[in-house]
Amino acid sequence: MNQLMDVGIIGGGPAGMSAALALGRARKNVVVIDEGRPRNRVTRESHGFLTRDGITPSEFRRMAREQIRAYSSVYFVEDTAVTITGHDGNFLITTAQGTTYQSKKLLFAVGMTDLPLPVNGLADVYGKSAFVCPYCDGWELRDQPLVLIANGEKALHLAKVLSGWTKQYTICTNGPDEFTEEQRLELLQHRIPVCDSPIERIVSVDGMVQRVDLADGNSISCTGIFFAPKLVAGSDLPQALGCQITETGTVIVDNFGKTNVPGVYSAGDAATTQYQVITAAALGSAAGMSINNELLLEAWNRQS
Ligand SMILES: Cc1cc2nc3c(=O)[nH]c(=O)nc-3n(C[C@H](O)[C@H](O)[C@H](O)COP(=O)(O)OP(=O)(O)OC[C@H]3O[C@@H](n4cnc5c(N)ncnc54)[C@H](O)[C@@H]3O)c2cc1C
Repeated sequence: MNQLMDVGIIGGGPAGMSAALALGRARKNVVVIDEGRPRNRVTRESHGFLTRDGITPSEFRRMAREQIRAYSSVYFVEDTAVTITGHDGNFLITTAQGTTYQSKKLLFAVGMTDLPLPVNGLADVYGKSAFVCPYCDGWELRDQPLVLIANGEKALHLAKVLSGWTKQYTICTNGPDEFTEEQRLELLQHRIPVCDSPIERIVSVDGMVQRVDLADGNSISCTGIFFAPKLVAGSDLPQALGCQITETGTVIVDNFGKTNVPGVYSAGDAATTQYQVITAAALGSAAGMSINNELLLEAWNRQS
């Protein structure tokens, strides 16, 4: 595509698509480059988005695309952005398929990636009866016996949050526990069992967990699992372009999604630690409007 687009959006999840909707309605030329690996693709139902509670992620995506198609200045491309060079006013995006796109502004809506935990059988239950976020999937597992796979501070945090949905859960640290004496005492006071034996395997039927077998020979029966995933940035491109990143891989932005690099924005999971579809969509929309304002102001000032 030889045309200089107004905005290049990398990532077509809820954040990228919300930005595209705002920009399409603002009559901007937009290319959305998306490789199609959203974080929640493993899950059967997405919860908590007002008016769309329980929708499948693929249906959410289909509806979003269909509605955005009404704005003909928005182009969707199924590809991976691999390098980006240039500067505010003229960025050059090169994709894995070797196509190049030019845009005045950039939005990184690349999400985060969950690295799989090295636990036998977890892949079979992930998204079906094993989840990462009680706000997303806690309701479906309320009052049920659960196993929480996490260690140290993360386990304590998850235990506190999960206590709103069920009182029956066991923490499996999958190896030596990393709790401080104070944390151990806190868990004891709340009568939360902790198993530090390595996990042998998760036993399941059709994606529904039955029990967790431990290397010490014990088994824990349960109907669900929550675990603390290791999260990394969805793409290295923001950092490669000079965007400031936190230690945990989140792009640092202001209230309007603006990064420290002129003309470059970020939104959604990539730029917040509040991992929710509705939050990602809201941040994407705000970033889209902010980019539009910047473009309008630049055009206005050129004319004066
Ligand atoms: C198991 C699980 C269940 C969840 N359930 C819920 C739920 O019930 N309710 C809820 O609100 N939230 C849920 N979430 C969180 C939700 O998935 C995220 O908050 C949301 O997807 C973030 O949207 P996003 O647009 O920022 O990123 P994503 O949806 O992850 O989209 C990012 C997109 O960018 C693409 N991309 C990345 N790099 C490139 C590149 N270089 N070139 C092209 N494309 C690229 C990716 O392939 C992806 O398609 C869940 C998460 C998980 C892991």
